[in-house]
Amino acid sequence: MAGARPKFNFNAKPKEEEPKKELEHNDHPITSTGTFIIEEKKFEVKATDLLQLKERGRGAFGVVYEMQHRDSGTIMAVKRIRATADGNERKYLMRDLNIIEKSKGCPYIVTFYGVLLKDGDLWICMELMDNSLDKVYKLVYHDMKKSFPEKIIGKMAVAILKALHFLVEVLHVMHRDVKPSNVLISNEGQIKMCDFGIAGVTTDSNKCYTRGIGCKVYMPPERVLPPPNQKKGYDSRSDVWSFGCTLFELATGKAPYPPWQTVFDQLKSVVEGPPPNINDTDLSNECKEFTHLCLEKDVNVRPNYVELLKHQFILTSDAEDTDVGTWYHSVREEAKTLGLN
Ligand code: ATP
Ligand code: MG
Repeated sequence: MAGARPKFNFNAKPKEEEPKKELEHNDHPITSTGTFIIEEKKFEVKATDLLQLKERGRGAFGVVYEMQHRDSGTIMAVKRIRATADGNERKYLMRDLNIIEKSKGCPYIVTFYGVLLKDGDLWICMELMDNSLDKVYKLVYHDMKKSFPEKIIGKMAVAILKALHFLVEVLHVMHRDVKPSNVLISNEGQIKMCDFGIAGVTTDSNKCYTRGIGCKVYMPPERVLPPPNQKKGYDSRSDVWSFGCTLFELATGKAPYPPWQTVFDQLKSVVEGPPPNINDTDLSNECKEFTHLCLEKDVNVRPNYVELLKHQFILTSDAEDTDVGTWYHSVREEAKTLGLN
């Protein structure tokens, strides 16, 4: 499970071309005992070695619990997924778990400890973070009636972009589920991505086939209505659109589209309507331009990660000495005073 740490220089100038190499994935044997690497030490872990502390949240596919590994004392997040996966889905899941393992070494992706099988359910054990950005922005915008400072949005954008670029550049996969609930923040203000649960391996020309899942609100026009002459599939710029929707939420505190009743409504607003925009905010023109570039409806015009990494908003935000930890600490303190825990 340890795996060699992929060497990747996050400060290096991006290459002009994104890679077209395929990555091999072997079937991952998942058993009731897993070999976990916790702080460089190896542990053979069974579900009974994990003490359930509290529930951290629920998603469409499972529940996330805070659990303590008795031997090391480490507290981790354990995502329990109902094991209804059929043969095919299981195959994808195994492949995705291999990908998660290889993400070790990326400071913008949560550390993966290992996976267990318990009563047919999968327990995916990862680094425990403090919260996800969907909950943090709701707290700040809705409960406190405040907004995220631009410098904080900038640091979040840099971390998400570098995580997504790492996935494509080093692991040759797309994320496929980019949204605020899959971006986590630690007490110290580190921003990391999680949940490659529906990631797919890219094939030639960086395209891969959809498995028909993914959160609809974040789905780009080319997936809502694929052009008739286009092969079924999409490239990593679909994740760029979802990244743009995520930035829209962080910048406004609102979902990028109002809830849809029917697929027809979705088609009409995403494919025919204007893309979400942040023109009504007080954010800088650079931040607006960057967000709107991600929310370019035409996938062929939408920039890729290499181009986005060179945008002034990212260069400035990356270079700035912004202390996300101090800001996050003040949010937590205010939440406590307001009794919003
Ligand atoms: P969906 O299932 O639609 O993708 P989701 O991302 O909210 O939605 P989960 O991935 O199951 O669903 O996560 C549920 C919640 O658990 C998240 O919203 C997040 O707040 C919390 N969570 C997930 N992973 C961690 C983690 N590593 N550390 C701390 N909290 C986490
Ligand atoms: Mg999630």
